[in-house]
Amino acid sequence: MKRDSRVFVYSDYPSASLSTDVVQERVSELGFPLEDRGNLIDFLSLSEQGIYKLAQNLSSAQIPDISIAVDNTNPVDRNEIDSEVNRLLGRESAAGKFYDGFWIQRILYRALAEKVADEIKSGFIHLIFTSRLFGTFENRRYHARVVLMGTPALVSTSGLIEAPAKPKEYYYIKGRLIQSGIGLSELDNMYKGRFVEYDDPKTSSILSSYALQAIGYEITGNAFCEDPDCCLFNSHWQEDVLRVQYNGNLCKKCMESIRSNK
Ligand SMILES: [Zn+2]
Repeated sequence: MKRDSRVFVYSDYPSASLSTDVVQERVSELGFPLEDRGNLIDFLSLSEQGIYKLAQNLSSAQIPDISIAVDNTNPVDRNEIDSEVNRLLGRESAAGKFYDGFWIQRILYRALAEKVADEIKSGFIHLIFTSRLFGTFENRRYHARVVLMGTPALVSTSGLIEAPAKPKEYYYIKGRLIQSGIGLSELDNMYKGRFVEYDDPKTSSILSSYALQAIGYEITGNAFCEDPDCCLFNSHWQEDVLRVQYNGNLCKKCMESIRSNK
C-alpha cells in the first residue's frame, strides 16, 4: 500500500445495528487511515435526473429469477424505478429485493468515478456498506454474498443474515415442521444465538472483519485466508461467522502480510 493510500467508507441506510465508528476503530487499529464519508447518495450530490438514472440502473440489476444471470437489459417498469429512487433517498426499504452484485459494483464504480476521478486508483479503497442483498451467479444460480471485493467493495448487512448458512439441523427441522403443517414461529427461538439476526448487536464487530477482507484483498491480492480461525476466512456457516468474524482475530500470516503491505 502506498504512503498516500486511504480507505473511504460510505453507506446507504444499512441496518441500524451497524456503527461505522466501530469499523473505523478496528481498521484504524491496523494503521489504515479511514475516512467515513457518510451517506453515499449525499456524498455523490447527484441532480434529480442523476438520481433517477442511478435508480433506473439499479432497478435493472435486480434478479427476477435466480437461475438466470442478469444481462442488465431487463425491461424495468416505471413504478420499480420510482421505488428505487425512494430507496436511494431512504424513504423505502430494499428488503426482499435481490441484486446482481457485479452490476451494482459497475454502476456504483461509474458514479464514484464521475465524482472523485482522482481517487479511483490503486491503493485507494472505497468500501460501501449497503442494506441491499446482492449475489453472484455461480454454478447455475445466484448465491447471496456478504462481501464483494473490488472497486467499490460492497458489504451487505442483509447478506450477513441471508448468505452464510444456518446449522444443518435448522433446515432439517424446518422441513419437518413445514411437512407436518406446524408453524415456524418457534424455530428461530430454538436456534437463537447460532445465527446472526436482523439488528443484531454483534453486527458492527462482524462487519469490521468483512471490511478487513475487502481491504486485505486490495493490498495483498488474496481474497480469503485458509486458516479457519482467521477473520479473513471465507465462512460459509453462520456459526463460523459468529466465531471467527465476530472475534475479529487475524492469523499471524495475514497480520504480517497486511502490516508489510501497509
Ligand atoms: Zn489469515
